[in-house]
Amino acid sequence: MIASYSYQTKQINPSTNAGSMVNRTAYVSVPDHCPMCHCGISPNYLKHNYNYDEELFSIYYECTRCRKTFLAYYDKPSDKMGEPSNYELYPKFAKEREFEKEIIELSPVFVKVYNQAIEAEEKELDELAGMGYRKALEFIIKDFCILNTQIKRRKLKKNY
Ligand SMILES: [Zn+2]
Repeated sequence: MIASYSYQTKQINPSTNAGSMVNRTAYVSVPDHCPMCHCGISPNYLKHNYNYDEELFSIYYECTRCRKTFLAYYDKPSDKMGEPSNYELYPKFAKEREFEKEIIELSPVFVKVYNQAIEAEEKELDELAGMGYRKALEFIIKDFCILNTQIKRRKLKKNY
């Protein structure tokens, strides 16, 4: 969905170098999901703002599902309806991965660390995410080895 909003920006006259405020219309893509609950939505518009020094257009929305508010940042506002500005949503919350019951029972620490690594990746902390995924893998391998050893010991006790 595309929406349009009017805003004011500063325009510099090249011959006099004087700045004056002019009215413009920004065409933007409306977010189709909520960054907080990850549901597909058509958010409620709350307020918009244009920072002309950074050419940053932002819109404050409310999720119709979880009722939390979030920001959409649009780099350079587009003045063409057919080419609306794209957005980046904040805050960024990663969607936790759901694991099978057997994995949760085998290694709850793996599930916790893995989901924290996803969160780090979503926040573009790639070094931390990499360490997190590696650590998560170490936990699940260790827990699997412990379980495997326990099963072997039980089998040995049964046979003797
Ligand atoms: Zn939501």
